[in-house]
Amino acid sequence: MINIDPSLEPVYDTVLKRNAGEVEFHQAVLEVLANLTPVVKKRPEYTRASVIERICEPERQIIFRVPWVDDEGRIQINRGFRVEFNSALGPYKGGLRFHPSVYLGIIKFLGFEQIFKNALTTMPIGGGKGGSDFDPKGRSDGEIMRFCQSFMTELYRHLGEYTDVPAGDIGVGGREIGYLFGQYKRITNRYEAGVLTGKGLTWGGSQVRTEATGYGLVFFVQEMLAADKSSFDGLRVVVSGSGNVAIYAAEKVLQLGGTVLAMSDSNGYIVDEAGIDLDLIKDLKEVRRARIADYATEKGGNYVEGGSIWDVPCDVALPCATQNELGDAGAAALVKSGCQYVAEGANMPTTPTATAILREGGIKFAPGKAANAGGVATSALEMQQNASRDSWAFDYAEQRLHEIMTTIYANCATTADEYGLPGDLVAGANIAGFTQVADAMLALGLI
Ligand code: GLU
Repeated sequence: MINIDPSLEPVYDTVLKRNAGEVEFHQAVLEVLANLTPVVKKRPEYTRASVIERICEPERQIIFRVPWVDDEGRIQINRGFRVEFNSALGPYKGGLRFHPSVYLGIIKFLGFEQIFKNALTTMPIGGGKGGSDFDPKGRSDGEIMRFCQSFMTELYRHLGEYTDVPAGDIGVGGREIGYLFGQYKRITNRYEAGVLTGKGLTWGGSQVRTEATGYGLVFFVQEMLAADKSSFDGLRVVVSGSGNVAIYAAEKVLQLGGTVLAMSDSNGYIVDEAGIDLDLIKDLKEVRRARIADYATEKGGNYVEGGSIWDVPCDVALPCATQNELGDAGAAALVKSGCQYVAEGANMPTTPTATAILREGGIKFAPGKAANAGGVATSALEMQQNASRDSWAFDYAEQRLHEIMTTIYANCATTADEYGLPGDLVAGANIAGFTQVADAMLALGLI
């Protein structure tokens, strides 16, 4: 279904063999390789130096036991991961995900995506990702803290502001980063602010980091709309998820005059034709850690248990929940109901076949590694502030984020043009991200 250049087939076969059963990682690699045919033709030096083989093999993979004691006094054992994928452009950088679905294949797919995403930001950061199969749902604050402390007690030896800089992802927000940073500080006896990003504003965090992924996504779509002489004003938007990315994507859509019709969580989705009350969503999800079903009980609207949020007709769809959440049926429903733009806020939320359906249906599509890069870009701005012991005002940090997203869009669009694929932001993102990393790898020699 996805074709790759015959010269890349042995590379992909090795990936399949070395990483047996890690289907999400295979998917992420295939999606990048599929766009590299014109690149290998134009730049034979990449093949000579085995750059693509090397990029598919993580520089280092760490797997460790995380023992902790729950509130009932029972011993719990989880598995921790950190995949340090590529450091050609800077220290490994990427979030930690705490979710029961986490295994090595998920961390590798995320780490692989992160390499190219981070390159697109133009900031000096390599790619990595980590996490655990720990399920934070229903856990007390004390349990979360003990888990984070145990996790960091092993991971700290692999980190450092010049080595590897984690942040949040699904299941890891400001609270968890606080516990992780506290334990790192205690073990190392160093106030090394730049070792983690997503910190609180009073202890080394950056303004706009919380909002950055969602805001950045909407800034990216703003550029897509502007290219069509359009804007968010009056558009109907569906945002899947109700975590950090979804909430702040919705917030920026509202600020720009759009209406958010629907949001979801892993149980179901809520449609409010009057426009979603974002303050209530924030209270439910950020403060009370409740379910989105409670929106209907407290405010009204229509709650659909199970169901597909992509059945809600809209102009713009922003998948902001998790990988492979938008499949063929969802894509077909979006095409049918007249949706015009899909931009990925989550990492790899659209399956390859669904992406094809969207694009064949005339929908303009933005891949996550470009459209959701605002989060990690603002992490790099946080590192910059930490390095200079400075902290910037909200407006300035937001302006920097906005500039970065505009640049990423322009880079993806012009790269697609350059390679004869106008409008193909997937190819533009993959080629622009890849060549940036590949050029640095060539310069650094065989390491
Ligand atoms: N987890 C986010 C991502 O997928 C942010 C990573 C970071 O800030 O390091 O890009």
